[in-house]
Amino acid sequence: MREVHIDPMSVERLAHLMDPERAERLEASAALARRILDGRVVWNVSSTASGGGVAEMLTTLLSYTRGAGIDTRWLVLEGSPGYFRLTKRLHNVLHGVPGDGGPLGDAERDEYESVLADNFETLRSLVRAGDIVLLHDPQTAGLAAGLRAVGAHVVWRCHIGRDNPTELTDLGWSFLEPYVSVAQATVFSREAYGPRWLDRRRSRIIPPSLDPFSTKNVDLPPGDVDAVLRQAALVTGPADHGNLAFDRRDGTAGTVRAHRSLFAAGDEVPADVRVVLQVSRWDRLKDMAGVLTAFAAGLRELPSDTHLMLVGPEASGVGDDPEGAEVLAECVDLWKTLPVDARERVHLVALPMDDVGENAHLVNALQRHASVVVQKSLVEGFGLTVTEAMWKNRPVVASAVGGIQDQITDGADGLLLADPADLAGFTDLIARVLDDDHLAQRLGDAAGGTVRDRYLGDRNLIQYVDLFSELLQ
Ligand code: UDP
Repeated sequence: MREVHIDPMSVERLAHLMDPERAERLEASAALARRILDGRVVWNVSSTASGGGVAEMLTTLLSYTRGAGIDTRWLVLEGSPGYFRLTKRLHNVLHGVPGDGGPLGDAERDEYESVLADNFETLRSLVRAGDIVLLHDPQTAGLAAGLRAVGAHVVWRCHIGRDNPTELTDLGWSFLEPYVSVAQATVFSREAYGPRWLDRRRSRIIPPSLDPFSTKNVDLPPGDVDAVLRQAALVTGPADHGNLAFDRRDGTAGTVRAHRSLFAAGDEVPADVRVVLQVSRWDRLKDMAGVLTAFAAGLRELPSDTHLMLVGPEASGVGDDPEGAEVLAECVDLWKTLPVDARERVHLVALPMDDVGENAHLVNALQRHASVVVQKSLVEGFGLTVTEAMWKNRPVVASAVGGIQDQITDGADGLLLADPADLAGFTDLIARVLDDDHLAQRLGDAAGGTVRDRYLGDRNLIQYVDLFSELLQ
C-alpha cells in the first residue's frame, strides 16, 4: 500500500462561489466535523490515485477536507495482475456486462482475499480503534472485516452501479455480499444502485462533486485555450507561445509540452473546425467505438466543419484498468475501416499520464474548446466528464443512463439520448446543437448553473459529515 499526498485547500475558496447562507452551512458543518472527529483520522482506501472519476474526485474532496481541519489520509492498495483482472471483471459484471466472461468462483475469491490480506498488514499498523475508514469500490470491500476487528468505523463507498439488476449484476453482488455486509454503512451515487440484499437503513445516497479550482476545471481564457492546444500540437497552427505555464493542484507549475505523438489515429485538428468531444477511459462501457461509428455514419447530417475527438489516457495510463490498451486498439482498427472523408474528421487522442497535472490541463482546454461534449456511455455510475463539461458551460449530449439522468435535465441544461444504442438519434441530437447557436448557448449557460447549485464540494462534504455524526453516535 502506498500513501497519496493530500494538499490542504481552504473551503473558503469554495465559499466565495456561494451565497452567504450556503457558505455558513458549509462552515458550520466543518466545525461539527472537527468537534465530533476529535483527533480521529478519516482514512480513504482506493485502487488507483490517477485516471478515472474516483481518483479525480478524491484528490479534490480530500484536499478540502484537510483544509477544513480534518485529518484525512488516502491509501492506494497494491494488487497482482490476476487481482486487477478479477476486479475489472467484477466492475463489468456489476454494470451488467460479462467483460472477459471469466468466472467469479473460489479461486477468484482466494486471489481477492489474499491480495487484500497483504494490504491489510499495512493498514493494521496505521488505523486505530475509533478511526473512520472509507473503502472505495469493489476492489477494497474485502478489507472491511479486518478493519472492524481493530475497532474502526467502516463505510463502503460504491461509485458504480446499474439501474436495473440482472442475473449478472446479482452474480457480482453475491461475490461481494460477505464483505460489504460487514461495513457499518454504505454509500451509493444513486438509490437504484444498491444490491437487492442491502440493508437500506444503513445506506446513504451521496452523488459526487466537482472542484471548480482544480487544474481540470479552473477558468481558462479563450486565448489560452487556443494557445495550449496549439502548443501541445493537438490543434494546427503556430505554437509560438514558448513557455505556457499552468498551475498543478499541488501548487507546482507545469509547462505545456509539444506532443507530436498524441494521436493514436488521425491528424492534428484544424484550428477553424468545430469539435465534438468525448473524454473517457478506454472502457467498452464508455462506447468510444459507438461514438466513432455514429459520427462516421451521420457525417452528411452534421455541418461540414465538424470534427470528432475521442480522448482518453495513454494505453498504460490507468493502473487498475487492464482493458484500456485493448479497447484503444479496437477503436484504432475501427478508424482504419472508415472511408477517407470520415477519417479526416475523426481523431483519436491518447493523453500522456506521466504528468497528471498536464493531463488535466489538456482535458480542461479540450473541454473548453469543444462545441459539443458527448458522453455516450452504455452504463454510467456518475459521469464526472458530463459535470466537468457542464461547469464549463458546454452543451452536452449524453446517454440517459445511470447517474447522467440526475445530472442532466433533458432540454434544459443538456440533451439526453433515450437509448444509447440509437446511433442515428445520437447524431441528430449533436446536429441539433450544432445547427442552433441559440440552443447551444441556452443549454451551456443553464448547465453551469446546475453544477453550481448541485455538484460543488460543499454538498458532498456536508453529507459525509452527517454520515460521520450518525456513525459516531
Ligand atoms: N480523464 C482524464 N484524462 C483522460 C480520460 C479521463 O483526466 O484521458 C478524467 C475525466 O476528466 C474525469 C474522469 O477521468 O474526471 C472520468 O470520470 P467519469 O466519472 O466520467 O468516468 P469513470 O472513469 O469514473 O468511469
